[in-house]
Amino acid sequence: MSTPRSTVAPLAERLSLHGAVALVSGGSGGIGAAVTALLAEAGATVVSADTTPPDRVAEPVGKPTVEHITCDVSNAGEVHHLVERVVREHDRLDILVHCAGIARDGVLWKLTDEAWSAVLAVNLDSAFYLLKAAAPALRRSTSAAVTLVSSINGERGRFGQANYAASKAGLIGLARTAARELGAFGVRVNVVAPGLIETAMTETLPEDARQRSIDETALGRAGTPDDVAAAVLYLSSAMAGHVTGQVLRVDGGQLMA
Ligand code: NAD
Repeated sequence: MSTPRSTVAPLAERLSLHGAVALVSGGSGGIGAAVTALLAEAGATVVSADTTPPDRVAEPVGKPTVEHITCDVSNAGEVHHLVERVVREHDRLDILVHCAGIARDGVLWKLTDEAWSAVLAVNLDSAFYLLKAAAPALRRSTSAAVTLVSSINGERGRFGQANYAASKAGLIGLARTAARELGAFGVRVNVVAPGLIETAMTETLPEDARQRSIDETALGRAGTPDDVAAAVLYLSSAMAGHVTGQVLRVDGGQLMA
């Protein structure tokens, strides 16, 4: 039986994050800063955790609701203290978004052990540390949502990105397992998989490689950080109340299968 329309909250209310506390890793980066700004605009109190401070401060309408904490999310101890501090200072944690990530490309037979470990540590180990530390607070929330930022290259692989693709594929398995384990507590866990997005991470791409990626898209353009942030807001909101364990591609149709 479907829910009578009269019992469905208005659209603005279902997209609102008022009263929620959000933690965004990598919040100083291209995608992370857009996510931080949009979640704050939707009403959340947002804590951004990054190794570097933000260079543009989100300015949502009303009182400032974005705080920066310096944290290396590949360090389990730092993540433990980060989450402990957020919950102590704000008394709750409802939304977790993992945007921190690095790439250290190299063809498989030349990839150094150090480049392999560094990428796995920042992109994947961090997500485990964040989820593990945040799970108790998320379980207490009545509207908890986690979004891990993966990549379409985690699904399809990419020449020169064995470490990056493995880390991003790992996020999908981690998210789906967490979705199963935390689902009984009402905690939703999803993945956003961007294609080519214009940020610092991609600005050094050779022009021919950038054009090849754009040519792969159906929309004929690279994505923007705001394109990704919109997907994260949807997944973090009541609009996605029955969505968990999913991978939402934001790639202009770059990968369709
Ligand atoms: P970006 O380089 O602008 O941002 C990454 C952020 O992560 C930076 O602010 C950086 O300081 C932070 N960071 C790096 N190591 C960290 C650590 N150990 N602890 C805490 N913070 C750390 O890149 P972006 O394009 O905004 O990427 C954001 C996420 O989106 C990454 O996970 C990336 O893999 C993913 N992604 C990006 C694209 C793209 O085309 N730009 C495509 C697919 C996926």
